[in-house]
Amino acid sequence: MSNADILNDVFERFVANTRIFRDREVLRHDHLPERLPHREEQVRSLGETVAPVLRGARISNILIYGKTGTGKTAVTKYVLNYLEVKAKEFNAPVRFCYVNCRMAGSEYRVFASLCQSLGISVPFTGLSVGEVFDRFRTGLDASAIFFIVVLDEVDALIKVRGDGLLYELTRMNETLCKSKVSIVGISNDLRLKELFDPRVLSSLSEEEVVFRPYDADELRNILFERSKPAFLDNALSEGAVSLCAALAAAEHGDARRALDLLRVAGEVAERRGATVVLEENVREAEKHIEHNRVVEALKNLTLHSKLVVLSVSHMGKVSSNGVITGEIHEVYNELCQEVGVPPLTQRRLGTLVNELDSMGLLNAKVVSMGRYGRTKKIKLSVPHSVIKNVFTADARLGHLADYEPKCLHMIASGPN
Ligand code: ADP
Ligand code: MG
Repeated sequence: MSNADILNDVFERFVANTRIFRDREVLRHDHLPERLPHREEQVRSLGETVAPVLRGARISNILIYGKTGTGKTAVTKYVLNYLEVKAKEFNAPVRFCYVNCRMAGSEYRVFASLCQSLGISVPFTGLSVGEVFDRFRTGLDASAIFFIVVLDEVDALIKVRGDGLLYELTRMNETLCKSKVSIVGISNDLRLKELFDPRVLSSLSEEEVVFRPYDADELRNILFERSKPAFLDNALSEGAVSLCAALAAAEHGDARRALDLLRVAGEVAERRGATVVLEENVREAEKHIEHNRVVEALKNLTLHSKLVVLSVSHMGKVSSNGVITGEIHEVYNELCQEVGVPPLTQRRLGTLVNELDSMGLLNAKVVSMGRYGRTKKIKLSVPHSVIKNVFTADARLGHLADYEPKCLHMIASGPN
């Protein structure tokens, strides 16, 4: 078959094949469903906390926390969208602004988003954070509204920038005359006491709403609900849904993961030209998703972490039972020279190894060396073929994918 024939076949089949999905978009992360089963308690509690604003009272700050995929973002958006509708009905001057702090990336961008939602113009860069904050305060006070600021994934921002922004926001009402601001902070990280300064934590958590993980039964209900508009009648086996729910529950009750499994399983079945999504398609979907996760993680590493992974990969070819940091450092030094960048110290390299270990790309195991004490043996936890594919496509490191480090045979023949 020629390339055109292959593609023609793929496209024709795709178009003819509306046998699995009715509307796959419904399964995407950012789709906001109309019903959120098993979150009635959180919807009610958040609703009760924000309701007073309809009668002209400032509402308490709220801290929402729970692991990823437990419905925090969906529930918050759902409740505040509804509040906005009701506020119009009652003529209450209520507005809210949703900002994802991780995506915004800096305090400047968070405040810039807040300004934008109030129609205050702020240049993309150029002002100090303090200046943007002042514009926000002045503009907000002039609007004479109750402003609810939703800071989603606020933990990500705090870890990088500290909680100065939150501190300023929690103090802001003291200097506002005509407007009031309330904060809804959402955190995926449960270690709140470590993350926040005690003063910030206490003013932010006037109310708390906890999202615990879903269990397998709950995930199954959620998936059934979401799958009705997503899949054609009878295109989804009960076994497939249950398996998606069970796999996601075994991790940490993450609805996002369950939905991903279901969507990808549907795509696998579709590509096979099947009419029903089966358990085996879910198994395959699991492999796909894991593979993509690893590839994305590798592609997004910093240059030095990539060089460390490459070093371990090259060494794995000569010593199968793991290598020690000192040996990695030798190969890594050589690779740095090849690329023309100054190498990091062995100690910094040790930190990178630990990071890569916690990402699941390397595996570092402490082993006893008898009277020589203990040492860390480091191995690759990803197949060499994947490393090779990813790095061959890397503009800067492509030539290192097949490179043979000169120091390797010395290490391989040395005492081990
Ligand atoms: P979090 O913000 O806690 O990480 P999200 O609110 O983003 O989680 O939820 C992850 C995905 O799962 C989203 O697509 C969301 O629509 C869906 N989801 C979460 N909880 C429910 C639920 N109870 N019913 C239906 N879909 C849900
Ligand atoms: Mg979220």
